[in-house]
Amino acid sequence: ENEQLENIKKQIAEKKVELLHMQFVDIEGILKHVTITIDQLESAVEGKIMFDGSSIKGFCPVNNSDLYLRSDLNTFSILPWSIEDGYAEARLLCSVYNPDNTPYEGDPRHVLKRTIEKAGRLGYTISIGPELEFFLFQMDDKGVPTTTPHDQGGYFEPSHDLGEKVRLEIYRTLKAMGFKIEASHHEVAMGQHEINFEFKDALTSADNATTYKWVVKNVAKQFNLHASFMPKPVQEINGSGMHINISLLQDGQNIFLDSEDELKLSKNAYYFINGLMLYTDQLSAITNPIVNSYKRLVPGYEAPCYIAWSTSNRSTLIRIPAKRGNATRVEVRHPDPSANPYLAYAAIAEAGLKGMELRELPVDLIDKDIFSMEVDERNAAGLRHLPDSLEAALVLMDKSEIAKEILGTHVYNTFIALKREEWAQYRTTVHKWELENYHSKF
Ligand code: GLN
Ligand code: MG
Ligand code: MG
Ligand code: MG
Repeated sequence: ENEQLENIKKQIAEKKVELLHMQFVDIEGILKHVTITIDQLESAVEGKIMFDGSSIKGFCPVNNSDLYLRSDLNTFSILPWSIEDGYAEARLLCSVYNPDNTPYEGDPRHVLKRTIEKAGRLGYTISIGPELEFFLFQMDDKGVPTTTPHDQGGYFEPSHDLGEKVRLEIYRTLKAMGFKIEASHHEVAMGQHEINFEFKDALTSADNATTYKWVVKNVAKQFNLHASFMPKPVQEINGSGMHINISLLQDGQNIFLDSEDELKLSKNAYYFINGLMLYTDQLSAITNPIVNSYKRLVPGYEAPCYIAWSTSNRSTLIRIPAKRGNATRVEVRHPDPSANPYLAYAAIAEAGLKGMELRELPVDLIDKDIFSMEVDERNAAGLRHLPDSLEAALVLMDKSEIAKEILGTHVYNTFIALKREEWAQYRTTVHKWELENYHSKF
């Protein structure tokens, strides 16, 4: 750690870093930061930066609200866009601590760390590669985001407007911050894009997802565009997912691989899939946390609605991509980028681990397009539906022992309370659709 700190100090001196953003996320995964001067680096490292926890969504009550930030040195990066001659800014992602130095139970980063420790006790490292899709929208004259996509392009199409330039700038920025980018492309819907970064251990991967969302939004703004990670911003075209590609490593070896098996998958891989099949519906409020999430999970847009697994079928919840060797992995397709990555990764990993504990095989895979199956056929195959609204997801989460176990009592209770409030606001709103359909008729 000392060596790491020395290395950071060297970079600070070299680039003349003057300000340091101490970053963390709230219960929804929204990035927060307090900016300190670089001469307070020691305090930052020692966890002495205090803040008011009662002003952060899902954190503590006003009468007991002093919390501390302790930076994670692995996350140090100089912000490429801040660099000027003789001036620069840097950031560090932090975990949150109580005044008595114990981890603060409301911190989503601690939730994921707990899952990682649990897997570690079993001898496993959780490895995750997420795919976060987003839209680029035009701004109006006043600089307010519109819902007009910036282009008419489709899957893998070169953009004839700013799209390529924005993606190039995102790539360069992330690369300068230490990301290893693997691919970048236009997605299926107009104005929709995806940039993929290398899989990493679960904590680094959640940190990366957080950084990625921040960078994408910042860069888009430089081009006078609005980047949105809302799951279904435009009706009748594809929404944006955050597919989670997950595998478990033991001594650096991928334990989902077994070359003897028909699909080259190990028993543990099947058990893991079964765990996902059994528990994802109870955990959907975590992986798909907003009202709008459920407008993406409808038939016909490459987003799953039924709990099933397959190999190359993109209508199922779980897919096993063709890659084998150390890239053998399970792709979970229902999560969306409005999810808090720390909580979502913990939920997915623990559902799978629970399956490995149960040691039961999943039902048969489905290689038919589920969206084109008749009701009888779906019923015969025993296909269960994912929750179709935030409320339905909350009802399941409310009864879920595993959700409580994963999140811990504080996050579990706070999360449900906040989401119930969100649903109540939505439910009591009179929507445009109602006026259009009922106003003149009745
Ligand atoms: N946009 C789709 C979704 O909502 C995924 C499309 C794809 O990556 N092929 O999940
Ligand atoms: Mg992809
Ligand atoms: Mg995609
Ligand atoms: Mg994918």
